[in-house]
Amino acid sequence: MSVWYPYTQMKKLGDLPVVVKAEGSSLHFENGKIVLDAISSWWACIHGYNFKPLNKVLKKQIDSFSHVMLGGLTHQPAMNLANKLVQITPKGLNHVFFADSGSVAIEVTMKMAIQYWSNQNQNKKVKFISLKNGYHGDTFKAMEISDDSDLNQAFKHILTKDFVVEIPQKSVEDFSEKINAFNVLLENHHHEIAAIVLEPILQCAGGFHIYEPSFLNKVNLLCKKYNILTIYDEVATGFGRTGKLFATDYLDHAPDMLVLGKALTGGYLGHAAVITKTKVFNQFLSDKHEFAFMHGPTFMANPLSCTVALKSIEVFEKENYLKKIKSINKLMHQNLTSIKSNKVKAIRIIGAVACIEFISKKELKGFNDFALKHNVFIRPIDKYLYIMPSYRMKKKELRSIISVIEKWIFKIK
Ligand SMILES: *Cc1c(COP(=O)(O)O)cnc(C)c1O
Repeated sequence: MSVWYPYTQMKKLGDLPVVVKAEGSSLHFENGKIVLDAISSWWACIHGYNFKPLNKVLKKQIDSFSHVMLGGLTHQPAMNLANKLVQITPKGLNHVFFADSGSVAIEVTMKMAIQYWSNQNQNKKVKFISLKNGYHGDTFKAMEISDDSDLNQAFKHILTKDFVVEIPQKSVEDFSEKINAFNVLLENHHHEIAAIVLEPILQCAGGFHIYEPSFLNKVNLLCKKYNILTIYDEVATGFGRTGKLFATDYLDHAPDMLVLGKALTGGYLGHAAVITKTKVFNQFLSDKHEFAFMHGPTFMANPLSCTVALKSIEVFEKENYLKKIKSINKLMHQNLTSIKSNKVKAIRIIGAVACIEFISKKELKGFNDFALKHNVFIRPIDKYLYIMPSYRMKKKELRSIISVIEKWIFKIK
């Protein structure tokens, strides 16, 4: 077996469907079967597959140049995309550092945060606050700020956890309790904390938990008061997933650094971006070379990635994707909230995301094969069954995905 598959016990690997073509919201398998993709390839392919406007700009860019390094050189696709990202992200975010994946972009922000303080001679501010149930990627520093899920199990003995904060439940009492705890944490430890890293409004891989903007508004004020940087990871929530262009648009402030990935290129190529406030950028300006940020992924600002990202954003704006997302949201509400089953613990819907939390992982045993049999590709994470369709998915297609889920719930009743 030459391919080593992700998140998979290879000893138990069964036959995987071989994709030979993908079109719209459908995957075509080698055996002739055509299935609907309910999760748009790890949430990245927001336009669906084989999307002609993106194909076209990529072909043109390939004939011009596919890649040049960003060290000592620059190019129009990089400059154009950076300008565009500054324009569409919340006010105050002005400088773009490119990376080749979400995890690497997270590493970049954490390095930036530590150096932001060390450039000011504050070498003790090196720790991070993260949220319970967060997920920020699979590299080492990203694992340290992600939840202790089975993803990190094998490394538990070497990971350093700094500070983990819980998001509040919906009650007023819990809200003030969590804020007070946060306040105490900062009061006692601000001198050793570089930054807080979190997924705003919606935590994705860690269980699709939704929380109130007011909590983050408060957290932000306290971070300002105690000199702690804010890093918002929108690798999953960016580009419309929560119903606004960025989840940060629900808040009354911008973070010091914002991270984008996944849907950035419309799912065509792996790429990510860190967008920072001028306050962060300026701490690296100096006559001393060692104050510069010494990091540079080989394929950062790859011209193909930048070109396709620009076009993806242009289509998003021109075709009013936020409206499409609204109608997906409406359909999800209409069809999912009525589900009643003692096997279902909760149903959460925001933007173009629906999550059905089962009472345990057991209730989903065999579900993937069941769904495939009914022509749907879907892959729960632990006990969380979720739908994150492409924004161009047809109503009929989304309904048939939901009906397969209903059939399953009826079956295990
Ligand atoms: C997927 C994800 C990452 C990691 O991105 P990769 O491109 O897989 O490295 C980081 N943060 C969040 C919120 C994600 O969903």
